[in-house]
Amino acid sequence: MNLRELYQKAFETGIAHDPRGRDAVQKELRRVEKGYQELKKDEQDLFDTESLQNPYSDSRILHGNGDEEVQRALVGIDIESAEILLADRLRERGEKIDLVIAHHPEGMAFANLPAVMYMQSDILSRFGVPINIAEDLMEGRAKEIERRLMPLNHTRAVDAARLLNVPFLCLHTPADNMVVTFLQKMFDEHAPYALSDVVDLLNTVPEYREAQRTGSGPRILQGSKTRRAGRIFVDMTGGTEGSKDIFKSLSTSGVNTIVGMHISEEHRKEAEKNHLNVVIAGHISSDNLGMNLLLDEVIRGTGIQLLACSGFSRTSRLQ
Ligand SMILES: [Zn+2]
Repeated sequence: MNLRELYQKAFETGIAHDPRGRDAVQKELRRVEKGYQELKKDEQDLFDTESLQNPYSDSRILHGNGDEEVQRALVGIDIESAEILLADRLRERGEKIDLVIAHHPEGMAFANLPAVMYMQSDILSRFGVPINIAEDLMEGRAKEIERRLMPLNHTRAVDAARLLNVPFLCLHTPADNMVVTFLQKMFDEHAPYALSDVVDLLNTVPEYREAQRTGSGPRILQGSKTRRAGRIFVDMTGGTEGSKDIFKSLSTSGVNTIVGMHISEEHRKEAEKNHLNVVIAGHISSDNLGMNLLLDEVIRGTGIQLLACSGFSRTSRLQ
């Protein structure tokens, strides 16, 4: 399998597990296509044409032309220049590494991360939040994140990969879609009664069990063990945290408990004000679960080997 095929399989798997549903994703891709067609020639030259088929702006081939044959990849949650050097060092020692895969976005995928945030509006509307409220709040929040990312030097790791000629790929939202869909299905099927049951259920997943052992397992952040879980909303995809003003609408639309990867103090306070229960599954453990589920689908039947680094630990569910 070459790099382009691997990348394509990854974002297609992300689409198949997108919590908005395939139809919403297709509509969005058609909207992007229409916008592209309406651009002037010189504007089209500057357009990121990958976004015509890949709906996730935070997942891209960052270095490599796509023809590179991949037999063994180094996978990490965060890949910075240090990990690119590590890949090169390992190659020097005779280890075969054809590709480095990051979960968190780098380079242009990082700079363009706010574009994926808009998908959260569709997800919220599926949970009963009026779409006009979801879209209005998301727009303000995505712009805020955009302003925060603007001054960053986001190309460092990509520059290192270019200099050492290490093919480099990042897969963010496709993996986050996998974890959301997996957990939402688990909660919908098991309908945990109390918040302690939510945590117990999370602890049955190997990635969370391991995190529990090492001090970063699932926790009840808002509410208590005996509080009823009620209707659970798994909030783990769409780039980064949405607007803190959404909790009021979520609460009135009948959501009782939010299960997230992490939550800022500001957001937690708003959840508290609106009487929402919050269970934090864990950040890196959730990223691990998403990447494991995604990589299972991507490498199934290919014989590709994976080497883990930078917070990633490989757990395969392949038979
Ligand atoms: Zn993450």
